[in-house]
Amino acid sequence: MTDEGTHEELAKRRRAVLPDWLSTYYEQPIDLVSGEGRHVQDAEGNRYLDFFGGILTTMTAHALPEVTAAVSEQAGRILHSSTLYLNRPMVELAERVAELSGIDDPRVFFTASGTEANDTALLLATGYRGSNQVLALRNSYHGRSFSALAITGNRAWSPTSLSPVQTGYVHGSRRRGTPLADLPDAEFTDACVQDLEDVLGQLHGNVACLIAEPIQGVGGFAVPPDGLFARFKEVLDRHGILWISDEVQTGWGRTGEHFWGWQAHGGNGAPDVVTFAKGLGNGLSIGGVVARAEIMNSIGVNSLSTFGGSPVTTAGALANLEHLLQHDLQGNALRVGAVLRAAIDEARPRLPLVADVRGKGLMLGVELADPGTGAPDPAAATAVLEHTRRDGLLIGKGGLDGNVLRIAPPLSLTEQEAREGAAILVDALGRAGERP
Ligand code: PMP
Repeated sequence: MTDEGTHEELAKRRRAVLPDWLSTYYEQPIDLVSGEGRHVQDAEGNRYLDFFGGILTTMTAHALPEVTAAVSEQAGRILHSSTLYLNRPMVELAERVAELSGIDDPRVFFTASGTEANDTALLLATGYRGSNQVLALRNSYHGRSFSALAITGNRAWSPTSLSPVQTGYVHGSRRRGTPLADLPDAEFTDACVQDLEDVLGQLHGNVACLIAEPIQGVGGFAVPPDGLFARFKEVLDRHGILWISDEVQTGWGRTGEHFWGWQAHGGNGAPDVVTFAKGLGNGLSIGGVVARAEIMNSIGVNSLSTFGGSPVTTAGALANLEHLLQHDLQGNALRVGAVLRAAIDEARPRLPLVADVRGKGLMLGVELADPGTGAPDPAAATAVLEHTRRDGLLIGKGGLDGNVLRIAPPLSLTEQEAREGAAILVDALGRAGERP
């Protein structure tokens, strides 16, 4: 018997041709071949409820008919033309994103990924401010290019200590086990603002920007107290430092309460620059930057991205965004997120391994720690992923120690699916001690 066409065969071929460092989940890989709604299917015919959506890329639903139609209609006409020739879907999508951005006099630039979006934001901020000193949050993740890694506080993801910018790292998200983590919100906020002042004191001269995720994604869905960035903004404004909100994970209504994550911190106005990617394209590779015209147009040379703004990705993204707005999937994220959260919270007394449940809307993190010592338990997180997979549920994990389960289903999740998924998850959490 040959193993041709099995997951094992694919795993062997992967080892021969792909880099060792390419992160993959599961002891046996999954080869997903199709999806519909909130479900996906693998090459061996197993069906899963999808609570991770390809790291938050499947924003509305798998195989959303409007996106499929828009992409195939556009692909049947012309796949790509480059932005040297304007295409209508790009301009229409830019108008829509500008309208929704909450930024004054906005301009939009599309890229092919979140990394490239953050790179562009750094280029804008450092050029505009004439400084390559930047601020980022501890434990952050902003992408894998040389400059995006240089603002990524979670050093576990960085293969290099070399850097094109000088970065000061500021406290801005709660991480269990760190000295600030247990402070009440108001004191935590004051301590973070003090840290910002201290770090600014250590950098000399102009500082270009602070870049921050409103909820840290790769960092384990770590949520700062509402209003923290509004307090940061008071300090930043005193120095003319720009605020870049990395909305790659938190944008488009995922947090339920707001369309953008920064709006939980909007008391002192909008960020100067917002970056986005992932969910906008529902899986198509699109990202981008929206910034005030004066900042966006400060790049004084011609520039373009060959694939950024391509007609196929922008047509698909436009259809996806219209569906999201027409069906109020932000409202759904709030309602169904609450159902999911309640189901997990209700089971918590029976789950000593669970050290924290947090998040907003359909972006929920479940942190696992040894009940005796309180030490992060990444092995339990790995075991839970294996158990839930066997029982037909895909979830993610993250956090500095790899001990936080990440739950981020498509925003069209139904209440019944939320309950089904929560039941599988809770059962797996109860069995995490048994290694599968
Ligand atoms: N910013 C954040 C907050 C992210 O979570 C990610 C990806 N996980 C990125 C940027 C980078 O995006 P991409 O992988 O599309 O380059």
